[in-house]
Amino acid sequence: PEKEKVTHERARAVSYEDVGGLKRELGRIREIVELPLRYPEVFERLGIDAPKGVLLYGPPGCGKTLIARAVAHETAAAFFTITGPEIMHKFYGESEAHLRQIFDEAQRRAPAIIFVDEIDAIAPRRENVQGEVEKRVVAQLLSLMDGLAQRRHVIVLAATNIPNVLDPALRRPGRFDREIAISIPDRTARKEILAIHSRGMPLAEDVDLDHLAAVTHGFVGADLQALCREAAMLCLRRLIPHIDFASAEIPYDELIQVQVTMAD
Ligand code: ATP
Repeated sequence: PEKEKVTHERARAVSYEDVGGLKRELGRIREIVELPLRYPEVFERLGIDAPKGVLLYGPPGCGKTLIARAVAHETAAAFFTITGPEIMHKFYGESEAHLRQIFDEAQRRAPAIIFVDEIDAIAPRRENVQGEVEKRVVAQLLSLMDGLAQRRHVIVLAATNIPNVLDPALRRPGRFDREIAISIPDRTARKEILAIHSRGMPLAEDVDLDHLAAVTHGFVGADLQALCREAAMLCLRRLIPHIDFASAEIPYDELIQVQVTMAD
């Protein structure tokens, strides 16, 4: 099969302002990631190695990917994404080569962040791993991390929902030696997240984000985002129950004035 080119992106413009709640977590990540990316000379002066890997763990939809993108964007680092299942399946037979390519390219474009989503699919505890291929992929990842040259400033952020199944070798010093829990938002965080996702919306005056935050116990960031989107769509549908794009009857004046209401 044709080799796929390694691509990186300037991370989609997500900033720290787009992350609701998680202030403490973001603070820690910035300390660990942003400092060495932006001020590598400080670490050289102190004679200590900058951290190479940070493991973000917690339930789906709470903002792990969002944070990784925000840090990359805010530090103007090149951003590379690897997804565990993709490496194992889409690149099956070339998984190690693909990993090497990404690490090479990241070093060339340093400062860079490599984001490994669903790392548990690549690196489960080795005793649970079935085949030889899987073992080699884990070994390759470990050796690539060990080989990251200190002065090139590449940091690997990895995300998992299930940290306990990870190969313990990944969590040794010099690898993913920092772990940060990204957990389900509490009421205050939910309000911040609702505010973020409705900030571009023409909210009706009676929309009470405080109340909404109070009644959405158990909602994660992705749920709250969906809630805002659905509320907006509902209002649109209420206004025009059957949109008939063929007719010229679309009530444009009303549409353009639409306000978003949110009932329980
Ligand atoms: P997964 O384990 O499924 O990859 P994740 O923790 O990486 O989940 P994200 O992909 O970051 O979750 O979240 C999905 C979407 O939900 C984000 O793009 C964002 O719009 C919204 N979201 C999640 N958490 C937050 C948050 N703390 N603040 C604002 N938006 C959030």
